[in-house]
Amino acid sequence: MPARYWSASNHERLLNGASGTHPTWRMVMIRIDGSFGEGGGQILRSSLALSIVTGSPVRIENIRAKRRKPGLMRQHLTAVRAAAQVSNGLVVGDEIGSTELEFVPQTAVGGDYRFSIGTAGSTTLVLQTVLLPLVLAKEPSRIVLEGGTHNPMAPPFDFLERAYVPLLNRMGANVKVSLDVPGFFPAGGGRMVVDVKPTDGLRSLEILERGPLVSRRARAIVSNLSRSIGQREIDVVKAQMRWKAFELEVVEEKRSVGPGNVTTLELAYENVTEMFTEFGAVERSAESVAKHAVQQCQRYLKSDAPVGEYLTDQLMLPMAVASGGAFRSTGLSLHAQTHAELIQKFLDVRIETEKHGGGGTTLAVN
Ligand code: AMP
Repeated sequence: MPARYWSASNHERLLNGASGTHPTWRMVMIRIDGSFGEGGGQILRSSLALSIVTGSPVRIENIRAKRRKPGLMRQHLTAVRAAAQVSNGLVVGDEIGSTELEFVPQTAVGGDYRFSIGTAGSTTLVLQTVLLPLVLAKEPSRIVLEGGTHNPMAPPFDFLERAYVPLLNRMGANVKVSLDVPGFFPAGGGRMVVDVKPTDGLRSLEILERGPLVSRRARAIVSNLSRSIGQREIDVVKAQMRWKAFELEVVEEKRSVGPGNVTTLELAYENVTEMFTEFGAVERSAESVAKHAVQQCQRYLKSDAPVGEYLTDQLMLPMAVASGGAFRSTGLSLHAQTHAELIQKFLDVRIETEKHGGGGTTLAVN
């Protein structure tokens, strides 16, 4: 990776408190305890994004303290270096396993970027770190991301393309994502390309109702695996959801380097598109994969709130940067509550929530 940023990756010195970034920076740094709430990678990624957008240096401690393997894994390290690269920032502590980090950004500058994780780590999560800063940059960007595009515990590419990016664009962003090569965990090897054109500012957004249903679609994707796995998944969806034949599809993916399988159910309403994903795994039956995807979809259909659990996580950040917006969510996970708390440490916004009897929680960003 070209060193367009400054790295003083001397983790020992940082831990000993002898030296980190310049003392002046340390006086104004926002301090984030990465172990609060959910204690995962979202705290790191959003801290970096918010640090760039606000121009506030940040010190993050106890990074991913509540995860099985705490500290920076390759995907997080790529995100840290990507943040430093797009903002020509200074970073201390950018090493595998590092649990402390200091980051001093400058203004984000658009351009041609390539971020290669080197493992099947999630490209969509690396993108989450740099997307908003580059959306707000004066120059256009082309971002090539290499690694996993379809990972458990992360937004799959399809979710990004169908659910999140359209809403971001409705807020005034100008983002186009395309999938060159799908990369499934654990082989990785995927590549996506993201084009960003400058915006004249992000607008607030309100999503309080779903609006009429426009379309629904179930896809079972099999990569370098037997088509019959996908067919069995689609059979379960058909039996349980009673969707029509034209709404069901088995996709045989030939471009990936490794095996992979995922079932996605998509509900497109006038005001929002939601997507439910379940990944196949060794020793997991196709029927179990499809059943769990169906259960997520049915849970969403039981409520009439438009924004599901994962979209709730994603939407808060651009809304807060746009200084406004409101949506009705199916419910606030610990993840979402942690995210709301974090955002309010960087931005002068209030995120207020109001629970409704049977219909989820309204979240207003003011
Ligand atoms: P963390 O666990 O803190 O690293 O954050 C994981 C991120 O992935 C969060 O933003 C979640 O909302 C998101 N995520 C996890 N699973 C899914 C999924 N199935 N669809 C969309 N987003 C997801």
